[in-house]
Amino acid sequence: MDRHFPHTSQLHKIFNRNTVKLSYSCMDNLATIINAHNKRILRPDNTPAATRECNRPKKSKDNCPLNGKCLIKNIIYKAIITPDNSQPKQYIGLTSTTSKERLGNHNHSFKARSKSNETELSKFIWKLKDQNTNFSIKWSILQKASPYNPATKRCNLCLSEKYHILISPKNITLNKRSELISNCRHRAKNKLSVSNTTYATLLATPLVAGPLNFCNQLLYIVCNQ
Ligand SMILES: [Zn+2]
Ligand SMILES: [Zn+2]
Repeated sequence: MDRHFPHTSQLHKIFNRNTVKLSYSCMDNLATIINAHNKRILRPDNTPAATRECNRPKKSKDNCPLNGKCLIKNIIYKAIITPDNSQPKQYIGLTSTTSKERLGNHNHSFKARSKSNETELSKFIWKLKDQNTNFSIKWSILQKASPYNPATKRCNLCLSEKYHILISPKNITLNKRSELISNCRHRAKNKLSVSNTTYATLLATPLVAGPLNFCNQLLYIVCNQ
């Protein structure tokens, strides 16, 4: 207003701060701002570093336990354990971190007896070890799935794991039926608590659109997690 109708302008008498009211109707409303924020932080990371599938040099890619896909995150994986003297068994698991990290944890649980009860798989491996039975393990990726999304309140990762456990043959599977009713562990990641509420986590938390103001939105998320 001041720029386009300065005091020197002929039209200043008609168009000035006292005669014209400016509204914010042309600016983004809260819902648009929140949706843009949510879209930005929920967008998958497509940088070359984030999309790398294996960190082994090309020559030794054949040695990768997951066929050159060990850096992929959010996957359902399958382990087939073949003992020397009996039928193969199968274990299904999920990970929201890289499969390499998850496999590392599994391998650690096969070595440390204190971790032997960590998973059904480690229990089985320790049983074989105690019987002095040799075995081989083959890992593979069954599928990729999206982790818990606070906007949809759905965790495809947990759902897909349950689906694969459900369809796997009962006589060879190591997974317990009770795993089908377990709660999603990924939801807690989006939870804000007073002790660890930092600016970064606030910024990284998707907001829910509605008639509440920004502070109330944050409170709403904290209370609803
Ligand atoms: Zn690899
Ligand atoms: Zn989950």
